Amino acid sequence: MCKFTISAYELMKKFPNEESARLYIEEKRWNGKPKCPGCNRAENQHKQKRDGKAGYYFCYHCKLTYTVRTGTIFGRSHVPLHEWLYAIYLIVTARKGISSLQLSKEIGVTQKTAWFMLHRIREACKNDDDDNEIGNLLRGIVEADETYIGGKEANKHEFKKLKAGRGTIGKTAVLGMRERDGKFKGKVLKDTTADTIQTELNTSIADGSVLCTDEHGAYAGYKLEDMTVYLSTMKKFPDEQAAMDYLASILWPDGPVCPYCQRKRIKEKTIKNYFRCNDCLKTFTIRVGTIFERSHIPLHKWLYAIRMVATKGISSVQLSKDIEITQKSAWLMLQRITKANPSFDATTGSIKIHGSTLK
Ligand SMILES: [Zn+2]
Ligand SMILES: [Zn+2]
Repeated sequence: MCKFTISAYELMKKFPNEESARLYIEEKRWNGKPKCPGCNRAENQHKQKRDGKAGYYFCYHCKLTYTVRTGTIFGRSHVPLHEWLYAIYLIVTARKGISSLQLSKEIGVTQKTAWFMLHRIREACKNDDDDNEIGNLLRGIVEADETYIGGKEANKHEFKKLKAGRGTIGKTAVLGMRERDGKFKGKVLKDTTADTIQTELNTSIADGSVLCTDEHGAYAGYKLEDMTVYLSTMKKFPDEQAAMDYLASILWPDGPVCPYCQRKRIKEKTIKNYFRCNDCLKTFTIRVGTIFERSHIPLHKWLYAIRMVATKGISSVQLSKDIEITQKSAWLMLQRITKANPSFDATTGSIKIHGSTLK
């Protein structure tokens, strides 16, 4: 059983690139002290660079050069580590599983590569043997939740205790749940049908918390479709500037237009993203005159919200959790977005809002 409790947003923020993911996995796997996968020794390990890239280590005992990938499911793969983490996330959160085609679209690799990743991750998920290196590593990654939810050592201990006893308790009859705030719950189930498990999950864990086993597709907080919408939005617009540039390309295809007098003699101010109209002398940003006006919520979060409203609808509670804003802010966003009445075209995947088309 592998566990994962982290929102997609947290994941994207925490691992924007290969480097951040590598450092994280190194920490989880080696606890700050690189250990040679060839001879298992942690002393006399030397840091190296290759083509200017960090993350290579050399073992003076067995003369092996290695990285944190060596001997793991990430070994001999060219897929960046943060993409691997997204893939693991998608797989453990997918209610009905994920196809290699879906995965390939989501993380932008070929279907063949996606298939290979799926295969490796599933194999690793299946393995619950503590002595198994791959099993350990995957659990290490999955333990990402603890850092996010403020999990305490005591809780971790509880969790391990339960795990150790699983053989006698019965493998599938116990549902282990860790809530967002770090509390741990173990429950004995009357049966292991998807219905029972889903009910237990719904009553016991917060939205966005996710559990996974290789046996049941029933363990999921997030629906995959939501995840896909989320990750593709977040990937496209990792930050405010990316979202702003994107909006500018749609709202101002021929350069900035004054929202007050509609003229185009505009000068960008020294403060980035602020403009001044040479005709009416007013200062504005791209938000003026749009549903984003006078809002402090970053535009990429707005784009996510629009996408959700246009595609399947979302509650203010869920939205506030997804993009880490107060429920009041989420409610206000939803009010504005609903008023603007975005429509979704499934064949092109584009969203129409306020006469503009978002792709
Ligand atoms: Zn060695
Ligand atoms: Zn003007």
